[in-house]
Amino acid sequence: MTSIVVHVKELALKGKNRPWFVKLLVRNLRTALADLPVGSIRSVQGRIEIEIASESGWADVRDRVRRVFGIANFSVAGRASLDFDELAAAIVADLGGIAPASFRVRARRSDKRFPLTSPQIEREVGGRIKEVKGWHVDLVNAELTIHLEMMGDHAFYYFGKEAGAGGLPTGTGGRVACLLSGGIDSPVAAYRMMRRGCSVLFIHFHSYPILSRASQEKVREIATLLTTYQLRSRLVMVPFGELQQQVLLAVPAELRVVIYRRLMMRIAEKLARAWRARALVTGEVIGQVASQTLENLTAIAAAASLEILRPLVGMDKDEIVEQAQRLGTYPISIIPDQDCCQLFTPRHPATRARPEEIERAEAALPIAAMVDAAVAAVEVVEFRFPG
Ligand code: ATP
Ligand code: MG
Repeated sequence: MTSIVVHVKELALKGKNRPWFVKLLVRNLRTALADLPVGSIRSVQGRIEIEIASESGWADVRDRVRRVFGIANFSVAGRASLDFDELAAAIVADLGGIAPASFRVRARRSDKRFPLTSPQIEREVGGRIKEVKGWHVDLVNAELTIHLEMMGDHAFYYFGKEAGAGGLPTGTGGRVACLLSGGIDSPVAAYRMMRRGCSVLFIHFHSYPILSRASQEKVREIATLLTTYQLRSRLVMVPFGELQQQVLLAVPAELRVVIYRRLMMRIAEKLARAWRARALVTGEVIGQVASQTLENLTAIAAAASLEILRPLVGMDKDEIVEQAQRLGTYPISIIPDQDCCQLFTPRHPATRARPEEIERAEAALPIAAMVDAAVAAVEVVEFRFPG
């Protein structure tokens, strides 16, 4: 078995764009597998074939392919001629010593000009395998399914399927910028945008040196993990502590969270535009905390003129936690740190900040200068996978 057959997801729906989607998927697979011993990676009649030197490298390759977006499923496969005797012999040789209670053959033709129908192919090949192995055929509940794909000039066969990451290939969805805290929600929000094919810029606001570097370290770790999916990332660290102290001196306690967030939005918009990102992404969820009432979400969004995407807006916390656990960001997110917005924040922030109040509070601050100062002081970190 020296091939991996990759089936693309959703791409079939994309009509004229399909070749472009497949091209990017092939490119992403090449990047993801760059340091592993794989041969050619190419698109063949609606699938992608990855040649591997031997089955021994399969585990590493599998781990990488699983993270690449745009894949429905993939299998380690053998390649054989279209001749039924040769094909059945190759399959029997690769089956090894297994002894399933029942089996069936499932055939698909990528080239419909093949002279036999799929059920006929299944009978021909299944019959030959049964002759050698003596296994019982069960078309409904087989323990072992042998998959065949009849290509133009050869056949692929494989015995199981691995689920792919789904979504759309990275690079097909355009650029967005995600406000990435060290918390549980925003990494999940970033992942969901990445899965839809977007390239995500990460923006983190920290209060170092007023607070420790803990949040920055967490976000670096989260960015490293998310980069195993999107393959290249950029993280922008924004020093926010001084701005917060200015807010602290000038803004009534209950309004501070909304004012902090509005400052973040303005800064993030500038950074996003410089990177040609078309939208801001947050991990906000309706009603989760005081700053996330519908009124406050609206007031915060109004500070920026870029589209704001909130992929988690309607989710429950336990659903988000479950995704974070599957993604692997959860254990990093729950490491204690002092979130920059907990600093100087009252226990009872306004749940419905009114526009007039916000305007009055901000009139006391040199907003444009604050934003420019923060943008000028950012630190940029680049990530690549494989490293
Ligand atoms: P999270 O788990 O993502 O931190 P949360 O439930 O703690 O979310 P908030 O802290 O109110 O909610 O933050 C709402 C959103 O604002 C976050 O999901 C994130 O997108 C953004 N955000 C908050 N703090 C920061 C920060 N320090 N740096 C970057 N973005 C932030
Ligand atoms: Mg938070």
